[in-house]
Amino acid sequence: MGKLPITVMGFRCDRCGHEWVPRDSDSEPRVCPKCKSPYWNKPRKIASATSYEDFRDKIVATLKASGQPLTWTDIRTRSGLPQKFPNNGWVHRMEKEVGLHRQRDQHGVIHWQVRIGTPASDRMAANADAPTPAQTPHSTSTPTGRKKGAVE
Ligand SMILES: [Zn+2]
Repeated sequence: MGKLPITVMGFRCDRCGHEWVPRDSDSEPRVCPKCKSPYWNKPRKIASATSYEDFRDKIVATLKASGQPLTWTDIRTRSGLPQKFPNNGWVHRMEKEVGLHRQRDQHGVIHWQVRIGTPASDRMAANADAPTPAQTPHSTSTPTGRKKGAVE
């Protein structure tokens, strides 16, 4: 019998760094046992750190998913963007890059839409926020131990 390290599955709190081994490893703990944070497994988000790419992809994906023009409030609610108001520079950039089109109706409400079929943005939007089916690579490699032992 040799000595060997045994690895146990445990959890680490993203908030306080506490590591622990749960008694019941099948279910995820609801709070960190040390700091009691329910967000122990959710890395802190920096709201202002939304990048232009993130902003653009979310909007394009939201608009495409809806299939009709939306107001900024709709977009923001559906995409979960943190900004209260859209960044003008980014909006103009999107108009150029992804064919974003904004139209003010008779009530002064601005409706956003993207021209479907814009080359570069298409693929981006697809993997941005769309509910993609679980892409777990199922193991197709079935161990074939057949040939073994043939040469004896
Ligand atoms: Zn903690």
